[in-house]
Amino acid sequence: MKDTYQRNIDYLRISVTDRCNFRCRYCMPPEETAVLTGRELLNDEEILEIAEAAVSLGIRKFKVTGGEPLIRPGVPELIGNLKRLPGAEQVTLTTNGSLLPDQLEALRANGLDTVNISLDTLDRERFAHLTGQDALLRVLEGIRKAQEAGLRVKINTVLRRDENEEEWHSIALLAKDRPLDVRFIELMPIGAGRGLHGVSGEAVYERLRLRYPDVEPDRGIHGNGPAVYVHIPGWQGSVGFISAVHRKFCAACNRLRLTSDGSLKPCLCYAERIDLKPLLRSSEYAGEDKKEQRRRILRQEIRKAVLLKPAEHCFEEPSGISETRKMWEIGG
Ligand code: SAM
Ligand code: SF4
Repeated sequence: MKDTYQRNIDYLRISVTDRCNFRCRYCMPPEETAVLTGRELLNDEEILEIAEAAVSLGIRKFKVTGGEPLIRPGVPELIGNLKRLPGAEQVTLTTNGSLLPDQLEALRANGLDTVNISLDTLDRERFAHLTGQDALLRVLEGIRKAQEAGLRVKINTVLRRDENEEEWHSIALLAKDRPLDVRFIELMPIGAGRGLHGVSGEAVYERLRLRYPDVEPDRGIHGNGPAVYVHIPGWQGSVGFISAVHRKFCAACNRLRLTSDGSLKPCLCYAERIDLKPLLRSSEYAGEDKKEQRRRILRQEIRKAVLLKPAEHCFEEPSGISETRKMWEIGG
């Protein structure tokens, strides 16, 4: 699917829940809590119906996210069903890793391609402070087991000034002796991230370059996203930078987002969305015999969302950000 700016939209990020067992300060701080209950969430059949319509329009890759996606029962099976949609090429998962050890086997068996695990510190006390959970050891176990299970692993790290900034090197070093990628994601001024101070990808790269002057660009294919990778000779994995704020990559944006309550979001930065739930639940289109009609309208709505994609976000000018929902509500 081409959007107004001739970008090819082939990637759908699906949030399956707004709940989380962590309270990361820049995402869902301790005073916040999930708001959706029961039928406010899409069920698996509804998610698959949207995904199927999306694939018929050229979506090829799915990311399952949240809140914490592994809190929702049946995520491995949902991933298997997404993988089986004719035309779907890749299904990946973003998780805080704490529930991974118990679900790895099922995720692997259902064909998960890659797992992105968020990890902002290697210090146990700081981990508990930043996430509200003393779960560092569990997350490290999740990383180890995911690799043992043969899954491709990427670590996502958000650095914050005066918080975990100096850990950039110890976290990057995870890619030295293991075949995994460490990606530094710039803090975005969305939800609780607004008003906090992140660290630019460029600043981290500069420190990496000073320490490892032989660092080189890594032009290998690492995934669907906007990360720019570098490689240090002798290291097994690579280091990536997702610099959404300081190095806008909107010109190459290829994605739509589906929230767990059934809205399609053209862009993280703006409030525009298309609510698909009324259509999926309308009595006018209920039942198997109306499935084809529903599918036709779903396809129209997905195309509409693609055409609503703006040229670019305005994170550098926060007064222009119209999205008021939080990262955990939208799906990060
Ligand atoms: N709970 C899962 C996890 O933590 O990986 C999936 C959802 S979480 C919202 C997805 C990613 O969004 C995490 O890597 C998290 O660090 C990132 N994130 C959350 N709020 C952010 C913000 N304001 N700016 C940049 N990244 C953010
Ligand atoms: Fe939960 Fe992920 Fe947000 Fe942390 S970043 S609060 S783990 S949804």
